[in-house]
Amino acid sequence: MSKLINDYNVKAATKYVRNGRAPSAPLDVESIFGENTFGLEQMKSRLPKNVFRSLLATIERGEPIDMTIADSVAMAMKEWATERGVSHFTHWFQPLTGSTAEKHDSFITPNKGGGAVAEFSGKDLIQGEPDASSFPSGGLRATFEARGYTAWDPTSPAFIIENDKGSYLAIPTVFASWTGEALDYKLPLLRSIEALDRAARRVLDLFGVSDVRKVFSTVGAEQEYFLIDEEFFYRRPDLVTTGRTLVGARPPKGQELEDHYFGTIGDRVLSCMLETERELYRLGVPVKTRHNEVAPSQYEIAPIFEKSNLAADHQQLIMLVLQRTARKYGMVCLLHEKPFAGVNGSGKHNNWSMSTDTGVNLLDPGHSPHENLQFLLFCTAVIRAVFKHQDLLRTAVASAGNDHRLGANEAPPAIMSVFLGEQLRDIFEQIEEGSVKSSKNGGLLGLGCPVLPELPRHAGDRNRTSPFAFTGNKFEFRAVGSQQSISFPNTVLNVAVADALNELADALEARLKNKRRSKKSLETAVGEVIQESIRETKPILFEGDNYSKEWHEEAEKRGLLNLPTTLDAIERLLDEKNVRSFEKEAVLSRRELESRFEIWVEQYFKTINIEAEMTETIARTMILPAAVKYLHDLAATVERGDDIGLSFDGVRETAQEVNVLINDLRAAVDELVRQNKELGGDAIHDKARHMRDNVIPAMNAVRRVADRLERAVPADLWPLPTYREILFVK
Ligand code: ADP
Ligand code: MG
Repeated sequence: MSKLINDYNVKAATKYVRNGRAPSAPLDVESIFGENTFGLEQMKSRLPKNVFRSLLATIERGEPIDMTIADSVAMAMKEWATERGVSHFTHWFQPLTGSTAEKHDSFITPNKGGGAVAEFSGKDLIQGEPDASSFPSGGLRATFEARGYTAWDPTSPAFIIENDKGSYLAIPTVFASWTGEALDYKLPLLRSIEALDRAARRVLDLFGVSDVRKVFSTVGAEQEYFLIDEEFFYRRPDLVTTGRTLVGARPPKGQELEDHYFGTIGDRVLSCMLETERELYRLGVPVKTRHNEVAPSQYEIAPIFEKSNLAADHQQLIMLVLQRTARKYGMVCLLHEKPFAGVNGSGKHNNWSMSTDTGVNLLDPGHSPHENLQFLLFCTAVIRAVFKHQDLLRTAVASAGNDHRLGANEAPPAIMSVFLGEQLRDIFEQIEEGSVKSSKNGGLLGLGCPVLPELPRHAGDRNRTSPFAFTGNKFEFRAVGSQQSISFPNTVLNVAVADALNELADALEARLKNKRRSKKSLETAVGEVIQESIRETKPILFEGDNYSKEWHEEAEKRGLLNLPTTLDAIERLLDEKNVRSFEKEAVLSRRELESRFEIWVEQYFKTINIEAEMTETIARTMILPAAVKYLHDLAATVERGDDIGLSFDGVRETAQEVNVLINDLRAAVDELVRQNKELGGDAIHDKARHMRDNVIPAMNAVRRVADRLERAVPADLWPLPTYREILFVK
C-alpha cells in the first residue's frame, strides 16, 4: 500500500473537475443526438431509396429482412464509419454471462499491389462466427460442436464506440447455435415481442380494431448507481473482485438524515454526469432525468422509454458509458445491487407498457367507454400475468447480488404483488362485485363506471414499496437488479402478458361464438371475462405496505409465493406451467430453459464462492494482522504499567473470535471440495444450496466480528478505506 488512508488528499479529488473534458461550445442536443449511430437519418441519406424503404419496413413494422439489401447497407455503413475514424467493427451481442460481448475485426483487406483497402461486405454485416465454446451454454452445445453464430439485428442501429486512439463500429446482433437455439438474452427478447404482438392483436381484433399492424412493448428503465473515488476502490480488494464490500462497519452518519435524496449534485459528480449524458446523446440514447438517490454517493439516471428491444440495448450502453466516463473523473461507478451493507442498494425500475404502431398506449385509460373497456381488459391481462407467473417474475430478477436487496426495507419483498392505486382498484372491485350488463348507451351497467374518471398520473400516494405498480399509463417493475440486463425481465413480462392475453382472448371468443357480433354483445362478453379473471387473480392485488411483517403473513394466507433467495426462485423455472407457457408462446424451448437453469445455478454458486474466498483473504491477511499489531501496541502500554483504561482483553477476544470464524468459513468452503469428490462435478445444484445454507452464514459471521474490530482498531492501523471515507469523499 503506497500511503495510509489518512494521507488521502481530498483536494486531489476535485482536480478532475478541471481536467475532465470541458464543454467547449453550447450543448446542441438536436445536432449531436444520434451522431454516433447509423440511424434512420444516416440510412436515408446514404442508402438507395428502395433499400431504405425495405429496411424501414423491417425496423418499424418488424417485416422480415430482405437479405439481398445487405451488401448495399454494409457499404453505406462502412463509408459512414470510416469517415468518422473507425477502423474496426464488431458484432455486439448479449451472451448468457449477462453482460455484452464483442470481438473486433479491422476493415483491412490486403490488395494485390501490396497495399490494403477497407472492406466490409453484406456477409460481414449479417453473420459472424465468434468462437462460442467459451461462452456459457448450459449444455446447449458440446465443445466438439462449439459453433455458434451472431446474426444482425437490423431493428437496433449500429453505433460507434470512441477512444482517443481510434474507434470501432458495434453492430447489435443475436447469438444462436447452428441448430437455432438461443445462446443469448436478445433472441428470446425479440421472440417475446413477437409473441406479445400476436396475442395483443388477437384481442384488438375482437375489439374491432383493424388498423394496427404491430404491437410492441415499451420500456424505460431507471438506473441507480454509486460513484466513489477510484483511490478507495483500488484499496478495497473486495470491491475490485466482487463489486461489493464484504466487510465494513456502519459509518457514524449514514443516510438517516435523508439529506442526500434529491440534494444538490456535487461538482465533480455533475461534471461526470454531464459528460455521460452527452456521450449517451451521441449514441442516440434518450436519457432525461438525473438526481441524487437515497444513499450517500448514490445517483440515478433515467431515459425516455423506447421499444423494448432498443431499450434493452440502450440500457447496456447506459451502464457502459457510466462506467467508462466515471474513470475520466477519477471515480468508479458501482453497479452492484448492494455495494455497502446498511445503506440502500441499487435497483433498476423497469417501466413497461404496450403500444401499437398507430401510437396508442394500450395501458393508457381512454376517453370513451369503448377505449376504457379495452384498457381495462389489457390491464386485467397484466394482473393475470403477474398472478399466474409470480415465480417467473421473481426468477427474472434472481441473482446473488439482488438477494441482498429484495425484502430488505429498501426494495420490494420477494413476494410479487400488483399495486393499482385507489381509483383503479376501486373500479376493479366494482367489476368484481357487480353484475355485468350492457346498457343502452354502450356503457356498462352495474360496473359503476360507464366512463372511467381521469386516473391521476402522478398521484401523491404512489406506493414505493410495491414490486409491480401501476403508475398512470404503465406498470413499474421495481425488483430488477441494478447490474442485470433488462432483456430477460422484459422477456418474461412479454411472455407472461402474451399468455394472459391469449387466455382472455380464448374466453372472449368462446363467449362470442354463436352470438351476433354487436357492440352490445362484445361489451357484455368483455365485462364478464374481466370479472371472471379478476375474481380468480385478485389475491395478487395489494395496496398496503409491502415492507411490513403483516403483509408477509397476509400473503401467505392468500397463497402467494414468497421466494426469498435466488435458488428458491430458479428452482421453479422448469415447472411444467413455465415450460408450457414459454413453449406455447414460442419464446424458449424446454432445452433452452434447462440451459438457463443450469447457467444461473452455476453463476450463483461461483459468485458466492468468489465472495467467500475474498472474505477469508481480507480477514486473514488484512484485518487479523491489523488487530494483532494493535494488540502488540496495547501490550507494550500494559507492560509499562500505564493504565489508560483501554481493554487489552476485549480486543484480544475479538481477534480470537474472528480467527475462529475465518477457520469456520474455510471449513465450509472446503466441505465443497469434499462433496465435489463424493458427488462428482455435476452436483452443481447441491453445491449452490451448500453456498446458500452454510457458506453465506459463515461469511456473515466473519463480517460481524470484523466490523466490530474496525471500531476498535486505530484508524491508522486499519488496512481498508472505511464507509465514512468511501461514501462521503465526493
Ligand atoms: P414516474 O414519475 O411515474 O416514475 P416518469 O414519467 O418519470 O414517471 O417515468 C419514469 C420512466 O417511465 C421514464 O423512463 C419514462 O420514459 C418511462 N415511461 C413513461 N411512459 C412509459 C410507457 N408508456 N412505457 C414504458 N415506459 C414509460
Ligand atoms: Mg419511478
